[in-house]
Amino acid sequence: MKLVYSRDEMTRLCIEALESRGVTVDDIANIAYEQQSKYTPDIKMETCRDSVLKLLSLRDIFHTVLLGVELDKMAEKKMFEGPIQDIIEQDLGLFGIDEVLGLDIARIYGIIGATNFGDIDVNKRGIVSKLNKEGKKKGVCHTFLDDIVGAIAAAASTRVAQVMNEELAQELPYERISLFD
Ligand code: MG
Repeated sequence: MKLVYSRDEMTRLCIEALESRGVTVDDIANIAYEQQSKYTPDIKMETCRDSVLKLLSLRDIFHTVLLGVELDKMAEKKMFEGPIQDIIEQDLGLFGIDEVLGLDIARIYGIIGATNFGDIDVNKRGIVSKLNKEGKKKGVCHTFLDDIVGAIAAAASTRVAQVMNEELAQELPYERISLFD
């Protein structure tokens, strides 16, 4: 039995779990790029990809990705007992536990991460839109996956903004910042 994984292993296992459900690192990085390039025009796709990979190495995200993927697969196989089977399988709009998991990921980067998650959740960008549409097909359940993927994209997008601001702060000459600025 193995319970703890290294950051490299967690990244690899997250990528494998996501790819087994049709989602690539670049799919997630594309959403982060599209979202953040509106505010930060000179961002690079590479920075977005790095941010996604960094997030996939975090233990909490690793646990959430693996759990979410398994919950969707279990709903597809009708493995839940009682009303919750249909509620998850049909992706009931009033069921919000998928958003809770997403929000938990997005809030790694505070309220801006949460706001960016809301934007992706409502506007259904890129792969999130595709997952949402496919999830409506018979025998396919993406109830948890769309939120988890959207949340990783939102966190990556927010991380890119923070990385770029950090770079900007380091470029500014120290003398220019006074108590009254
Ligand atoms: Mg959902």
